[in-house]
Amino acid sequence: MAEEINVEVTDNVGEWTKFLKKQYRREIAEISREYPHRRSLVIDYRKILNNRLAFELLRSPGKVIGDIRDAIVQNKLLKLKDGQEPDLLNIRFTNLPQKTSIRDIRADQINTLVSTEGIIRKTTEVRPRIVSAVFRCRSCNNLTDPIPQGYGRFDEPEFCPRCERKTRLDLVINRCRFVDAQKLRIQESPEGLRGGEQPQTLDIDVVDDLTGLVAPGDRVVVNGILRSVQRINYGQKSTLFDIYLEGNSIEVAEKEFEEVSITEEDEARIMALARDPMVYRKIVRSIAPTIYGSDDVKEAIALQLFGGIPKEMPDGSRLRGDIHVLLVGDPGIAKSQILRYVAKLSPRGIYASGKSSTSAGLTATAVKDEFGDGRWTLEAGALVLADMGVAAVDEMDKMAKEDRSALHEAMEQQSVSVAKAGITATLKCRCALLGAANPKLGRFDQFIPIAEQINMPPSLLSRFDLIFVMTDQPEAERDAAIAQHIIGTHAVGELIKQHEHEPLPGVDDEYIRRALEPVTPDIDPVLLRKYIAYAKRTCFPILSDGAKEALIGYYMRLRNLASGDKPVPVTARQLEALVRLAEASARMRLSNTIDTEDTDRILKIVDACLRQVAYD
Ligand code: ADP
Ligand code: MG
Repeated sequence: MAEEINVEVTDNVGEWTKFLKKQYRREIAEISREYPHRRSLVIDYRKILNNRLAFELLRSPGKVIGDIRDAIVQNKLLKLKDGQEPDLLNIRFTNLPQKTSIRDIRADQINTLVSTEGIIRKTTEVRPRIVSAVFRCRSCNNLTDPIPQGYGRFDEPEFCPRCERKTRLDLVINRCRFVDAQKLRIQESPEGLRGGEQPQTLDIDVVDDLTGLVAPGDRVVVNGILRSVQRINYGQKSTLFDIYLEGNSIEVAEKEFEEVSITEEDEARIMALARDPMVYRKIVRSIAPTIYGSDDVKEAIALQLFGGIPKEMPDGSRLRGDIHVLLVGDPGIAKSQILRYVAKLSPRGIYASGKSSTSAGLTATAVKDEFGDGRWTLEAGALVLADMGVAAVDEMDKMAKEDRSALHEAMEQQSVSVAKAGITATLKCRCALLGAANPKLGRFDQFIPIAEQINMPPSLLSRFDLIFVMTDQPEAERDAAIAQHIIGTHAVGELIKQHEHEPLPGVDDEYIRRALEPVTPDIDPVLLRKYIAYAKRTCFPILSDGAKEALIGYYMRLRNLASGDKPVPVTARQLEALVRLAEASARMRLSNTIDTEDTDRILKIVDACLRQVAYD
């Protein structure tokens, strides 16, 4: 008796029927009208109020999808026209409760519903895949029943099921069923990574109306069933398995900086900081605080992080708001260090090397490799992955020739076009580029004009808003300061820990304060990130009359000066750059107008940069 009471009698199909009738009547009616053009019922997980069903969905999604399908078919919820079968219907789920990051996916999640997020790194062409095959026997001429086909190997009968003879069977194409199939690879988004970790990836198999939805560079949440396939090593089955996600739904994240959440308390702190008369200096001092000096470079990077405002022209063209900065300098002058810091600080920041970046290079490429199982694959490079962020590209002087030409479009139009074989695509790369390069001869030669030592074509150079020349000249006072700074960064923390109770000679509070001061940023990086995101979301300053005059006046003077064949020609681009920089400067204090305080500041920087490269 007791046993019988414990047996739970559950009618899942009945429960799902109730749920669908209550929550999805309208959607199902719409699908009925538009079927098979529209054939996916998208169920919002948050609407499943029955805890047991919700739990079962996460644990055994395959079974639940079957139950829901049964509920729809048995109760004829889908009203189809004569002759139509409901077998094309897809059941999809969105807004799953918990996201697993790619690196945390584990064996116990196999065959469960998993939700993860990242950037689309690769997509293959969309090609048909057979899902059920019908064969004709060469001996008895009979047709087989449809044989379902899974992911991977093609399943062919070895003998005819009718005459049971071991003969050849031919595929009858017009009786087979196909779906559109595409393979994607997503990569962890950089903001989830702890410093310096390599992003991990996960492959996703999508079919039917999920194909062709996303492009490399898109930020997505992918929901799907985690599947495993056995590895084959040298023709032998291995005990190791690979995993992939059988895609169930894809949610595309559109907005920039939505990863950065800003609470009301944050907002109060942001407003307080904006009112601080020292805010500009504090921000600049909070960029790469472990690097001594290079204040002009840090100021430029601060401007870059805030960015100008992109503008739509009446003719449909677009002017970028992103500020591109190039650092050309002697080795060992902390260029790489600065780049890495910025990639970490910026939401959606990516660090890449021009020399050894992936096969996708800096922009994007189409390749035919084993990933696509014979299909062409489109792969995003650093600038596409950094869409809506900052791409920090080191060793730019060593990049491949193809990258160099693709960069022209990427930097100005902020898009990358790929047209190769079956793939034509235009990918977005709305990012600010922070580049670093060594001089032509490895280090600057003081007897050759600097402009001649920058190893990049003028057309590319003119796309940078600011170019800095960083030379490593021994200078006793500065060297001592750097030495103390580096030693301080390394040693002071340790010293304090070891000698809490017995002070070291010479290491007094003042020493520690001085040594630590430049290392601890004025603004905590977490707050700075939020401050930047807030400024980009809410602040769109416009030029005051005084600022307009200042910029135009400066530009006219530049044009007059720039006669002859200078390596960095002065064109209308420079005027656009001036406006962008001034906008960024106003944004740094959340001001709605650009004043002469902003133009004074940025003209000083621009002037210093041009003095080094353009008219020395
Ligand atoms: P680069 O990329 O310019 O060749 P790196 O970024 O690799 O140089 O820097 C070399 C090392 O020297 C780094 O560890 C960096 O921290 C240190 N370094 C160089 N200049 C400074 C400086 N001004 N302040 C602090 N550290 C510095
Ligand atoms: Mg370097």
